[in-house]
Amino acid sequence: LNLDVATSWEDADRILDRGEHDIHIIDYSLGARSGIDLIRSTIKDRDPRIFILLTGQEDRQVDLAATRVGALDYLVKGDLTASRLERCLRFASEAMNQRQMLFDQADALEDAKRATEVVLARAEASEKEYRWLAQHDLLTQVPNRMMFVQKLQSGMESASRSRQHIALMLLDLDRFKAINDTHGHQAGDQLLVEVARRLIRTVRDTDIVARLGGDEFAIIINNLDEPLFASGVAEKLTRGLAEPFDILGNRIEIGSSIGVALFTPRDTTTPEEIISQADAALYRAKSAGRGVFQFFDDDLNKEIQRAHMVKTQLPVAISEGQFSLAFQPKICLRTGEMIGAEALTRWVHPDFGPISPGEFIPAAEETGLIRPLSDWIFEEACRTIRDWQGTAMANVPIALNLSAVQLLKQDIAADISRLIEVHDLRPSQLEFEITETAALNHVSSAMEKLAALREMGIKVAIDDFGTGYSSLALATGLPSDSLKIDISFVAGMLTKPADAAAVNATIALAHSLGKLAIAEGVETEEQRVHLLNLRCDQAPGYLFSRPLPAADILAWKAARARKS
Ligand code: C2E
Ligand code: CA
Ligand code: CA
Repeated sequence: LNLDVATSWEDADRILDRGEHDIHIIDYSLGARSGIDLIRSTIKDRDPRIFILLTGQEDRQVDLAATRVGALDYLVKGDLTASRLERCLRFASEAMNQRQMLFDQADALEDAKRATEVVLARAEASEKEYRWLAQHDLLTQVPNRMMFVQKLQSGMESASRSRQHIALMLLDLDRFKAINDTHGHQAGDQLLVEVARRLIRTVRDTDIVARLGGDEFAIIINNLDEPLFASGVAEKLTRGLAEPFDILGNRIEIGSSIGVALFTPRDTTTPEEIISQADAALYRAKSAGRGVFQFFDDDLNKEIQRAHMVKTQLPVAISEGQFSLAFQPKICLRTGEMIGAEALTRWVHPDFGPISPGEFIPAAEETGLIRPLSDWIFEEACRTIRDWQGTAMANVPIALNLSAVQLLKQDIAADISRLIEVHDLRPSQLEFEITETAALNHVSSAMEKLAALREMGIKVAIDDFGTGYSSLALATGLPSDSLKIDISFVAGMLTKPADAAAVNATIALAHSLGKLAIAEGVETEEQRVHLLNLRCDQAPGYLFSRPLPAADILAWKAARARKS
């Protein structure tokens, strides 16, 4: 216990200043200044120390004033007994402990609050950062596909409300892969960054430039008063990207193709639909030649819907056996005799009617259904050939078309030799046709597989010859027995000098390589005579016959034999 007694204001002030005591009993009358003044000037914020005022007589006013400045209690000098003092001190010390505890708790709370704030702030920052990362393309810093779809959706909603139009543009760089290959990925990356910058600079702040992946960008043009203003924007974008880039010291030139789809407020189009429209337009732009933009239109829309129908109906058609084979006779131009036939697959849909192989073969390739479909085709062809055993068709080879996917993925030679065995056929009864494009897209696999077929004694034809934009050396280097001149050249050869030249050259080329020349799609007598004069060997064509059901072939052949 440390008891000090102060006899003057100054004394008291000094003792209080040292802060060594817990409990202070202060006389109210300290000369000029009162004990209340002393307490007021001493007590600090959150002061655990106890002050008790000692007064001359009981006085409500003094009591109140003392409590207001922070005194705990007060004692009246006249009533002061030992037990009263003792009780007062006990209370005081309890009160002090309590105060201390309260202050400690408040401090702890304060600390906790501060810590939480730091954590919260950090969490908020990292959430923001996380959200940004999830919505942006790291390379170009523009919105990514996810954010693009969100922006498109909200743009379409507000366009509906404000009765304005939106144009969605999908943009694809024309020679990006080549640039990546020749200048390296670093240059490719830098180029993408620059492209994004140029796109942003070309459009307004309210428009959105997003990178969908690879060299594909999307631009949402918001608030279009006139939908056709979009073509001006597309043109500016195309022109902007046609300007050379300076990438890591290299002058790089690229071009771009753009597909545009428009959203007008009356439309009920969904974001997905508008994206696929722009995509279809982009596809058209690319095949129309590079560096152009193309708008989605209604025809294109119908095409998309039809393609979608074909794709979704295919599995049902295969399982329900909606397919059949037609056989188109092939004529020897010199003798006029039927010397072969090509099997062509037919699909008659119960609701949609005939669907051409030009539609369903690519769809089957895309969906992976080409395998079950062509298994059926091969099986059916072999069964039909087997049925013709012992008839006039017994020695007529039947040609089957091979798709690109089969060429790549299927062990054709093994599958065919199994079929030949199962159906008890001779290899010379079968032929295969593969398009130039398909063969050259998978050239090493084509070389190997076509060679394997020929080794078995099966003849191979290169179909649609001349349409693959391929090098002659490559195309003629494929293992084959004949070249089939594409129907488009035959159709044009009597009117267009370029087509005539292509036909002449292909026939000469085939012969100089010891192969047969076959002209597809002979429709007129003049064409037949012209091809005969050029010494073209064979031709299928509507002039002779359309593709026929298997059941009609024998009768047709007999009639043909009587004629020739
Ligand atoms: P392709 O192999 O070039 O077949 C010739 C196409 O030309 C056939 O069309 C045939 O009907 C048509 N054609 C024949 N002569 C004439 C004519 O004088 N004038 C005209 N305008 N056309 C003629 P189709 O049957 O519609 O087949 C189109 C393409 O679909 C075929 O072209 C072929 O690439 C593919 N294809 C057909 N069946 C199959 C198949 O079973 N498997 C595979 N992988 N592809 C097939
Ligand atoms: Ca063919
Ligand atoms: Ca063809």
